Amino acid sequence: MAYTLPKLPYAYNALEPYIDAKTMEIHHTKHHAGYVTKLNNALQKHAEWHDKSVEELLGHLSQIPEEVRSAVRNNGGGHANHTLFWQCMTPFPIKSVPNGSLAAAIDKEFGSFEQFQKAFNQAALTQFGSGWAWLIITSSHELAITSTPNQDSPLLKGHQPIFGLDVWEHAYYLHYQNRRAEYVDQWWNVVNWEFIEERFGKLIG
Ligand code: MN
Repeated sequence: MAYTLPKLPYAYNALEPYIDAKTMEIHHTKHHAGYVTKLNNALQKHAEWHDKSVEELLGHLSQIPEEVRSAVRNNGGGHANHTLFWQCMTPFPIKSVPNGSLAAAIDKEFGSFEQFQKAFNQAALTQFGSGWAWLIITSSHELAITSTPNQDSPLLKGHQPIFGLDVWEHAYYLHYQNRRAEYVDQWWNVVNWEFIEERFGKLIG
């Protein structure tokens, strides 16, 4: 079964002024759509993999036929990363910080939400070139901040992404140009903590 581009849960202009409509539209209809098309193309001759979820593909990359392994890593990663990214944002955030078990886990690991945010921003700013900053549950069940280059998913290393921030220039350049720090700061205004808390709850079971 073919992978498909998910619909955005809000309009392209819904995240303004923090993320502009043009950026959202190109990001979704060109970049994300491109990853989906290329992932489908790569697996066209490998029907046995086409039935797997994209998370399964990324979690078993070494078993993917070598001739399409890089294509699956890049485009499967791009598909999974963006699908999560859209859900982690909302035009109507009803809270600016997490509560509950996620808040407790963040405080325990990082000292406070402010310290966590500072460390996450640092990961986003120091990722050289294109990539992502992440909050993950590591393969040894610890909460951690990490970054990945290109479209690499934390799943490649057996980590579970809780949420991620896209720091490719395509995610911010039209509005923020080279000012990645400003984009990262403003992005917190549209984070969907409700969704992320729920996801965290499911991941830790
Ligand atoms: Mn992107």
